[in-house]
Amino acid sequence: MGYTYDPENIFARILRGEIPNSTVYETEHTLAFRDINPQAPVHVLVIPKGPYVSYDHFAQEASEAEIVDFTRALGKICEMEGVEAHGPGCRFISNAGHDGVQEVPHLHVHILGGRPLGRMLS
Ligand code: C5P
Repeated sequence: MGYTYDPENIFARILRGEIPNSTVYETEHTLAFRDINPQAPVHVLVIPKGPYVSYDHFAQEASEAEIVDFTRALGKICEMEGVEAHGPGCRFISNAGHDGVQEVPHLHVHILGGRPLGRMLS
């Protein structure tokens, strides 16, 4: 079974410019913007511009250029937001599918930081 991408999902609409966003960083293959419902002082969503549902979809089907661009963007945004691991630190979260309780079916990595985030896993 393959992945099915819904081109009407809200992040696809953001990428088409149909819905405004608060962009913090943009490259050829990647867009990063502030979450509209921030859960921490730093809450940035990082998305590829290509039509990928989830990280596993992206990792299987994206080009190496897209993967490198997206991965470098994650690091760049940590630096821009001052939440690198050698500073205060942060957390990356990428919810996927039903069990991951993914609301928007376009790959996104949440970068959360700016406060102590507590333990998630025991
Ligand atoms: O990981 P999940 O799919 O649950 O998260 C979707 C995220 O997208 C939520 O944190 C929500 O606040 C955010 N969102 C947004 N801008 C929109 C719609 C949703 O930042 N227009």
